[in-house]
Amino acid sequence: MNPCLLCMKPIKEMASWQSFFGLEKKKTLCDDCSKRFVRADIKEEGDVLDAVHSLYEYDDAMRDWLHQYKFLQDVALAHVFGDELRRSFSSKETIVPIPMHPERARLRTFSHVETLLNAAKRPYIQLLEKTNTGVMGEKSKQERLGMENLFELAPGAVVQPITYRLVDDIYTTGTTLRHAASVLKQAGAARVEAVTLIRSIQK
Ligand SMILES: [Zn+2]
Repeated sequence: MNPCLLCMKPIKEMASWQSFFGLEKKKTLCDDCSKRFVRADIKEEGDVLDAVHSLYEYDDAMRDWLHQYKFLQDVALAHVFGDELRRSFSSKETIVPIPMHPERARLRTFSHVETLLNAAKRPYIQLLEKTNTGVMGEKSKQERLGMENLFELAPGAVVQPITYRLVDDIYTTGTTLRHAASVLKQAGAARVEAVTLIRSIQK
């Protein structure tokens, strides 16, 4: 019996003809833990970011999952949502993960978005990188926020007139995704959509 990835209790597998033939998907969570996650499927349309689909609302269950995954770096937790993330993609679109901050890359922490895509078994291309925010020292913070994009094209990146699908773990204000979408649009992308695992709704 394999343990639940969140609470470590052994998962009871029911003997069935599916499990006998190895057709049943191995569960990653026990029933008690999986019951806590309720799909929300929040969909919105916009201008620079044409559409965004978030699979879950930010609630206690997602807060616990995100903390354990991202901050405690429990990489295996990516598998909890791998299949659901894969099913949210169509076969035609090209997946572009939101890149991690260079400081985090320097500290060799794992890339949480790319690890989610690996669990979803979906290939992706990295077209973006974070801009260096330290070079505009003489401008006020207000000016910088107004004009500076958080992202730029990665060296050698080729953007085609097709649909791209950005992927991020959480959508909060949407600034991150809109900045990323505007870079791809300016470089010639026909349409930019996004999927996030979680949507944080300001109440
Ligand atoms: Zn559990």
